[in-house]
Amino acid sequence: MTLRRIGSLPDKSWAPVILATGAIEQHGPHLPVAVDALMGQVWLSLSLARLPSGASCYVAPPITIGKSNEHTGFPGTLMISRDTLRSQVLAIARQVRDWGFRSLAVINTHGGNVPVLVPTLREVRTLYGLKAGLLQSGPVAGLSAQEAAFGIHAGEVETSWVMAAAGLLADPSKAVCEYPARIGDPGEVRPVAAPALVAWASRDVSKSGIMGDAAAATAQKGERWLEQGASGYAAAIAEVCRVARASAP
Ligand SMILES: [Zn+2]
Repeated sequence: MTLRRIGSLPDKSWAPVILATGAIEQHGPHLPVAVDALMGQVWLSLSLARLPSGASCYVAPPITIGKSNEHTGFPGTLMISRDTLRSQVLAIARQVRDWGFRSLAVINTHGGNVPVLVPTLREVRTLYGLKAGLLQSGPVAGLSAQEAAFGIHAGEVETSWVMAAAGLLADPSKAVCEYPARIGDPGEVRPVAAPALVAWASRDVSKSGIMGDAAAATAQKGERWLEQGASGYAAAIAEVCRVARASAP
């Protein structure tokens, strides 16, 4: 958009600006390091095409490099610190507010960003008065209990998504199954789903960089999960519009 068009948009008081936050980090031997940054754009293009009538939003340039210190030690991981991520989100929010928008919604595709984004979006609310939040697409349906608990990175879901959305970028022949823990393991110190959480780095818990069953991925599953996730994001965006519209001046 041109500056003139941005200056005169009619529905800034309620239509959210959507900011994609991703990562450039190792995704095992079978997926490119750009998966999380790529998936933000995939979700946007699929979910915006499914927006119900009456819903509207604008899309900000994405933050493609995230807080990925947990994936350092593998070639290809780029990272910014939690402070830099916070500063970037605050700077974008401040400008968006100055242009006249009143709502910021984040579509985040990298788990390591979440512990930074949640308190930062509260700052966006208190410092700049914007409505702000993280869009959620809902849980992925039909996973095994093991994959749902410990398939947290470059596993069945992410691999299937990429096979469906950009098949040339995936190499299923290099996909393996490697879990950081098994359901029923006696140990209480696990990377996730444990009473005692540890500050894990992926090199501590995975040789391949995969945490999950990437070998179980298929493009067909990916199509189904992309459809499900896109519908979830579209519904979340519509709900943000509905709430913001109800309280707009
Ligand atoms: Zn990922």
